[in-house]
Amino acid sequence: MNKEMMKKRILVTGGAGFVGNHLCRRLLKEGNEVICLDNFFTGSKENIIDLLKHPYFELIRHDVQEPILLEVDEIYNLACPASPPYYQFDPVATTRTSVLGAINMLDIAKKCKAKILQASTSEVYGDPEMHPQPESYRGSVSTTGIRACYDEGKRCAETLFFDYHRQYGVRIKVVRIFNTYGSYMNPNDGRVVSNFIVQALSNQDITIYGEGTQTRSFQYVDDLIEGMIRLMNSPDDFTGPVNIGNPEEFTMLELAQKVIKLTNSSSKLIFMPLPQDDPLQRQPDITLARRELHWEPTISLELGLSKTIEYFREIL
Ligand code: NAD
Ligand code: UDP
Repeated sequence: MNKEMMKKRILVTGGAGFVGNHLCRRLLKEGNEVICLDNFFTGSKENIIDLLKHPYFELIRHDVQEPILLEVDEIYNLACPASPPYYQFDPVATTRTSVLGAINMLDIAKKCKAKILQASTSEVYGDPEMHPQPESYRGSVSTTGIRACYDEGKRCAETLFFDYHRQYGVRIKVVRIFNTYGSYMNPNDGRVVSNFIVQALSNQDITIYGEGTQTRSFQYVDDLIEGMIRLMNSPDDFTGPVNIGNPEEFTMLELAQKVIKLTNSSSKLIFMPLPQDDPLQRQPDITLARRELHWEPTISLELGLSKTIEYFREIL
């Protein structure tokens, strides 16, 4: 077999988004052929513009809510807005993207016998009563609140993955991603890390929602990409779901203080109403990822924030 024939052809839906473009870059670096499929709702051509001249990179403008036929060996299904203001902008489209997107991508996997990985989320745990959250925890999610379009859409997608696996023998992988940050986040994305950095770099007030005592555990994007690739390459009988996140947990006040210090900013904190159903705490139990994938995060919040601040300094 020549080198060309040994290349894997890999589909990345949502490949023009924050996580997706990092994944496309890593897969190309490993010698694969990458098809990036995106409708540019929250992603942009800017994120992948330099990849367009790569001979093994292809871009398809398409909405995963609609079926499509492609011949591929592996699929990473990332297409879905991830930031609360964006996924709440058109909540019906968000649920449709998760559910119809999962069905359409699983149908490709079934037809081509491709392996498929679903980018699920810590949001499947909702506002958790169990802390930290292991994969066995079934979650506390509102079915009617403003976050439900995202949370329930992602939960239903997990269900579809496991049913395609049991019913049709599709090889699946499900990763539950905890809050991730890094370069290529959209400055207007609305998530906390990009908001705080953009505000600090422009010496604007830092917007703390609620009292800022709610917690999140933030992982740098490179750690996530490593975890996703290890999961895809793990033995077929390991399907997940598996948590990939950094167990270091911080309050939003602590995060704001770190960002102010690292940017040497004169920004002040202002307090704004806490959005409905905002989870109070979140921390991954990563015992399973350590055991099955020999994976754990390697980049501290300080280091990751410094790299991300550097990126935003360049683009702003
Ligand atoms: P993002 O918004 O930057 O990227 C999502 C990408 O999907 C964008 O390029 C967007 O244009 C595309 N997209 C959205 N709807 C689509 C549709 N209907 N058809 C085709 N493309 C569509 O978000 P991200 O942070 O890169 O997240 C990527 C994936 O990882 C998402 O599925 C998200 O739910 C999941 N995830 C991310 C995090 C995180 O902290 N970043 C945490 C948990 C889960
Ligand atoms: N948050 C905040 N200020 C902001 C944006 C978000 O205090 O400008 C809070 C938000 O209320 C939540 C946490 O930061 O408690 C993480 O929000 P994000 O939207 O990044 O992610 P998610 O809530 O989905 O984990």
